Amino acid sequence: MLELLQILIQIIQPFLVPICFVLAWGFVILIVWSIGAAMRDTMQRAKQMHQIPCADCMFFTGNYHLKCPVQPKIALSEAAINCPDYSSRNQTLTL
Ligand code: SF4
Repeated sequence: MLELLQILIQIIQPFLVPICFVLAWGFVILIVWSIGAAMRDTMQRAKQMHQIPCADCMFFTGNYHLKCPVQPKIALSEAAINCPDYSSRNQTLTL
C-alpha cells in the first residue's frame, strides 16, 4: 500500500507544483469572492432595512411591548415598508 502511494506521488511529482499553485490561488479567489458576496448581501439588507418607515411614523410608540397600536403585527418589520397607515411625524395638521 505504501509502495503504491510512493509510485503515485512519483507520477504526479511534476504536476504537483502547478496543481498546488492553482489550488492556492483558487482558494484565495474563493475567499475574496465570498467576502465580496457577503458585503453585497449586507449592503442590500441594510438598504432594505432603511426603507422601514416606522421610526419616522407618528404612530410609532418606541415601547418594546407595543411598537405600534395601528399595525402591531408588522411594526418595525419588512412588511411595514409599504404600510398604508404610515403618517410622518413631521406632518403638520391643517384644519
Ligand atoms: S402605522 Fe405602519 S409605518 Fe406607522 S409605525 Fe405602525 S406599522 Fe410602522
